[in-house]
Amino acid sequence: MRRVKKVRSLVSSPFAPLKLSLRAAAPGVADPIPTGAEYSVILLGLDNAGKTTFHEQVKSLYLSDHPDPKLKTVPTVGQNVSTLTLPDGYLKIWDVGGQLSLRSLWQSYYASCHAIVFIIDSSDIGDGNIDYDQSGRLEECRLVLEDVLQNSETEGVPLLILANKQDREDCVEVVRIKEGLVKRVFEGEKSGGIRDSRVLPISALTGTGVKEAVEWVRSRIKWNKESRPPVMR
Ligand code: GDP
Repeated sequence: MRRVKKVRSLVSSPFAPLKLSLRAAAPGVADPIPTGAEYSVILLGLDNAGKTTFHEQVKSLYLSDHPDPKLKTVPTVGQNVSTLTLPDGYLKIWDVGGQLSLRSLWQSYYASCHAIVFIIDSSDIGDGNIDYDQSGRLEECRLVLEDVLQNSETEGVPLLILANKQDREDCVEVVRIKEGLVKRVFEGEKSGGIRDSRVLPISALTGTGVKEAVEWVRSRIKWNKESRPPVMR
């Protein structure tokens, strides 16, 4: 069967569903449009944190037509989107780019997202303690995370923080990231109120912890579906 590349239609909302179903169908046979609950997850974090690598590993784990993760990444400009089909619905993953110039676009995704995954490069945050170490990008991470959390449109949205690059010898361990950064943000005025949250260690490069991350998101969006109902497609 001839394969046809997916083409996305130009739509106003970043989360608007695909308008076209483009799988090649046998002549005369209508291509079935899958229906079900769809949840959107945004991947946020500073540039170079490992968002694209994480996304590639997720696709390779959950998409049968994407068996080999593309681990040579280039900075994300615009957005990379994938849709995972899970037993209880569709999980749409949005990697929206972390460079400073692109961060202002993040907020257009907040109102419609069902979970936020915030990825941190654990090898680029000094020793993980804001009070004592100003090297690395810990302070930048804190400011960016606070900015996300205090936006009223992210209120109550489950948040998964991934301490990435745990395979590297120079990484800060997850417990120190929890104490030195996450706890401080959550205890501060800019924590944005109560939400489900978790910090997990991962290596997007080796794939360690990637499945656990997706499973956590999956369970939390279901818990939260009264406040953020899925889009039915
Ligand atoms: P993004 O800018 O957040 O999308 O980051 P990328 O996914 O493009 O990754 C930036 C760089 O970090 C690339 O050179 C990746 O190979 C590397 N990288 C990403 N995740 C890991 C990881 O878990 N371990 C190590 N050692 N390197 C990683």
